[in-house]
Amino acid sequence: MKTVIVHSPGTVANLVCGFDILGLALKEPYDIMKLRMLDTPEVIIRNRDEFNLPTEPHKNVAGVVLLSIMEKINEGIGFEIEIKKHIKPGSGIGSSAASAAGAAVAANHLLGNIFSNDDLVQFAMNGEKLASGVKHADNIAPCIFGGVSLIRCIHPLDIVSISSPELFVTVVHPQIEVRTSDARQILRQQILLKDAIRQWGNIAGLVTGFLKNDLDLIGRSLEDVIIEPVRSILIPGFDEVKTKCKEAGALGGGISGSGPSVFMLSKDEAIAKAVESVMKDVYTKIGIDFNTYVTTINKKGVEVVKGE
Ligand code: ADP
Repeated sequence: MKTVIVHSPGTVANLVCGFDILGLALKEPYDIMKLRMLDTPEVIIRNRDEFNLPTEPHKNVAGVVLLSIMEKINEGIGFEIEIKKHIKPGSGIGSSAASAAGAAVAANHLLGNIFSNDDLVQFAMNGEKLASGVKHADNIAPCIFGGVSLIRCIHPLDIVSISSPELFVTVVHPQIEVRTSDARQILRQQILLKDAIRQWGNIAGLVTGFLKNDLDLIGRSLEDVIIEPVRSILIPGFDEVKTKCKEAGALGGGISGSGPSVFMLSKDEAIAKAVESVMKDVYTKIGIDFNTYVTTINKKGVEVVKGE
């Protein structure tokens, strides 16, 4: 098998109270990537979109991941990759993770699936290190495994897939720039014990709510008393969007990744669409361009759609 095409989905990381440890995969949007094996040890990147991402392998997330796989197997082979991104870089819905995870899964497919999903997360985290300066798995893990992922620990890697009800996800991406480095820098380094207690109560409640299909418990637990109060100031309209989306019936939601996208979970499509129109109204009124998605949780993760 010499070429493979994969669809690599967007993801929501920092799932409200689950900062750095909980993420979920989206059905849409997804990047399309075509990988071809070469019999020379090089990586060639061809962009098939308008984002002008670097084509030097060590500057592109997908390239870094492929180089790390080549170094590991040391067999003198290489890869040519065509990338058509639909997930805008810097949107906060895992654009870099989609490239990293998609490259890892596609390469593994061409190599005869010699690596486990945990190995692929390790390779893909090299890409996240390039994009944001730190290795983190809360986008990569759901992108590869699908569904909701708990990253209990990354040293050593301990990823737990969590079953969940068939929820709808509405995402709004206001077209403003929030630099991941700024979003990290403004976080407080110390937190109060009372806040920590409330936060871990919510995390336990959210995970239990997913596992027991308990929508009320999910809704009650979608509360972040530590990160959101600080970060939301970087996102115009955040409080209004959140309040009005909940009034429209959303279970709850918050900042996706480090923003600027905001996501809401809903129990059915009608509510998810009502939530979308609330988001549209708020950003139209503020006068900021935006994109919206109404989608569901993607249970498959990166999908191999064609191999030849
Ligand atoms: P997101 O949260 O949407 O993934 P990040 O800020 O984490 O956004 O990552 C985007 C950064 O990574 C941008 O600076 C972009 O130029 C860089 N980058 C390099 N290669 C890629 C790639 N293949 N896909 C997406 N972003 C990439």
